[in-house]
Amino acid sequence: MGKITTITGPMFSGKTTELLRLKSREEVAKRHSFVFKPKLDNRYDEKSIVNHNGIKEEAIVVNSPLEILKNVEEYLSSQRSKEIPLVNIFIDEVQFFTSDIIDVILEVSKKGINVFTCGLNQTFEGKPFPFKDKKEHIGTLMALSDFLIHLDAVCNHCGETATKTYRLGESKETVVLGGTDSYQARCTKCFRK
Ligand code: ADP
Ligand code: MG
Ligand code: ZN
Repeated sequence: MGKITTITGPMFSGKTTELLRLKSREEVAKRHSFVFKPKLDNRYDEKSIVNHNGIKEEAIVVNSPLEILKNVEEYLSSQRSKEIPLVNIFIDEVQFFTSDIIDVILEVSKKGINVFTCGLNQTFEGKPFPFKDKKEHIGTLMALSDFLIHLDAVCNHCGETATKTYRLGESKETVVLGGTDSYQARCTKCFRK
């Protein structure tokens, strides 16, 4: 069985940075990985995972969780996979997929491949972040993970530890793409205020 690691926390807590660190560590160990990201997120770069400091990693952009499974299965049935076995997959912005991402992650791990994934813990309203179809939320994935990395940021309002994502502006949609222009990390006190 592969191991499932979920990295979570508010925006700017360093989730993508941690994902990229773990990926580069696997590169040092010469263990082959695939990197995926959902189509929805094109804030910085279409075909790369990019953190808020501009560090990049090329990614396979997919529309659905099944595409991740398809990519993995295609590789496993190829000749190349006998020479270079696939050891890990990395998935950024996991909350932007539909809930079947959970089944796909479990399925991939059953093939003996480790899954590293990261996603937001809460919405801008402080609710567990739902997957796109709202059937499951990130908490389910956290509960099913073998390892959990829960990060925090710095409150943009007071400098204390921030565990919440505050949205600037009026929109009430769950998903509104943006960076520092539209979001802040906040401690619970400043979030409520
Ligand atoms: P995430 O994927 O969790 O949104 P990133 O890994 O992309 O976060 O970015 C983390 C980086 O964001 C930090 O290393 C820091 O340089 C920067 N940053 C900007 N605002 C904040 C903040 N309020 N708290 C912490 N880091 C911040
Ligand atoms: Mg990120
Ligand atoms: Zn604060």
